[in-house]
Amino acid sequence: MLSRIFAAARRFPDKTAYIYENNSITYKELQESAERLAERLKGGTAPVIIYGHKSPGMIISILACLICERPYIPCDVCIPHERIRRIAEQSGADTLADCRSGIELIRLNGKGCNIPPHTAYIIFTSGSTGSPKGIYILRKSLERFISYGESVYRMNSSAVPGGHALFSFDLSVADIYLSLCGGRTFHAFDRVPPQDITALTCTPTFLRMCLLSGDFSPENYPSLRTVLCCGEVLQKTTAEKFMTRFKGTRLINAYGPSECCCFVSAHDVTCEDITSPRSVPVGDTEHTASPVSIKNGEIFIGGISAAGGYLDGGGGFGDGGYYTGDSGNAAEGRLFFNGRINGRMIKYSGYRIELSEIEEAIRRAEGVADCTVSPVYDEKGQVTMLKAAVISDCDTGAAQIKNYLARHLPAYMIPKVIERTESLDVTPNGKASGGQ
Ligand code: AMP
Repeated sequence: MLSRIFAAARRFPDKTAYIYENNSITYKELQESAERLAERLKGGTAPVIIYGHKSPGMIISILACLICERPYIPCDVCIPHERIRRIAEQSGADTLADCRSGIELIRLNGKGCNIPPHTAYIIFTSGSTGSPKGIYILRKSLERFISYGESVYRMNSSAVPGGHALFSFDLSVADIYLSLCGGRTFHAFDRVPPQDITALTCTPTFLRMCLLSGDFSPENYPSLRTVLCCGEVLQKTTAEKFMTRFKGTRLINAYGPSECCCFVSAHDVTCEDITSPRSVPVGDTEHTASPVSIKNGEIFIGGISAAGGYLDGGGGFGDGGYYTGDSGNAAEGRLFFNGRINGRMIKYSGYRIELSEIEEAIRRAEGVADCTVSPVYDEKGQVTMLKAAVISDCDTGAAQIKNYLARHLPAYMIPKVIERTESLDVTPNGKASGGQ
C-alpha cells in the first residue's frame, strides 16, 4: 500500500491528495512530511495515538506510522480526555501526535503492550465491560481491504471520494486508503458533502439527513457516480428516495464490523431490492473480501479480513475468523442481515454503542447506586434516543450525571433522558432492564 501511495506521489506530485475545509496537501508534500515525521517516530514499537479532527496532519501522521511500522490509534477530538487516557493505558501508546494545529509529538508513559508485529492500526469501539475496546487490524487485512474496496467502487484516478466519517471510525479507512492508493483527491467534510465529489461514503443515517435537503440533488452534484452506505441498516425508504432522486447513480449497501477492516461485503441496490418484502441485501456472496458464512444463523467472517483480535483478548474471535453477533442468512447469491443476536449492542445514528459501557460510566458517577440504559425505537425499528433509569441519592440530578458523563464518553453515548427510579427490573438473565 505504501508503494502505491508513493507511486501516486511520483506520478502526481502537485495533485491535491487531501482536502478538508481550507486545508489541503499535495501528494509531494504528503510524502515528504510523512517521511520527516517517520524519522522522528522510528525506533519505537509502541502505538502512536493520532489526535485531531480531519486535519492534513492526521493523514501525514497515519502515513508516517505506516512508514516506520508503528501501529496508530486514530482519536477524534470529540473523544473526551479521560477516555483517551484509558485508550493510552490499554494500548501502551508511548506517543500522542497532536494534529490540531500542525503536528506536535507528546511523550506518554506507555511501554507498548503485546501488540503483534505488522499491526497497521487499532480502532477503539464501545466495550461491553465498561471500557473502550481496542481492535488491532493487521497490515495484510488492510491490504486485502484495499484491493476489495477498489473492486467495489471501481473508481478511476480522477475520482474525488468524499467522506464524513471521523478518523476514529473504521469507515474512514475506505476514504483514506482508497483515495491515496489510487492517486485520488480525498475530500473530507463534516456536514454538507462538497459538490465536486464523485463518490460518497457514509452511514445510512447521514444519507437520510442529506436527502432531507433539496440541495442534495443531481443538479448540485453532477459528478456523483457512487454512494456507498455502511455501518447500519439501510432503510428501504432511504434507498428509494435516493434512487428516485439520483437516477443512474450507484447505491451500494456494504457490510462489516470494525473487527474485519471496514467492510467485507457489498451489494449494488436494485429497484427489485426496494420493492421486495425482504430486507435489502448487504452483500453478494460471490464477491466478498473474505469468506463470509452463516453458522447457526450468525454471520461469521473468516480468513484474512478478520482482525488479529482485541487488545484485552476474548470475545468473538475463533475458528480462524470472527463471529459477528449479527443474525443473517444467504439466499440466491445474496447475503442478508437480520438484526443483532445480542440486543445490548446497538446502532444509534450510525454509532456503535454497547449499552453496558454507558451503564458502567453512570455507575461510576457520584451518588449513583445502579442504573440501566435502554434505547427508544421508532416504528421502523431505528433508535431515536437513549434513556437511562438511575437509582441515586436525592441530590444527584440528571444534569450532574450528564456533566460527569461528558468527561468520560463521547456526546453520542450520553442518554438524552436520565430519570430517577426506585428499583430496576431484572430480566431472567440477571440483567437490569428498563426501570420505570
Ligand atoms: P461497526 O463496528 O461500527 O462498523 O459496527 C458493525 C456492526 O454494524 C455490524 O456488526 C452490524 O451489526 C452493523 N452493520 C454494519 N453494516 C451494516 C449493514 N450494511 N446493514 C445492517 N447492519 C450493518
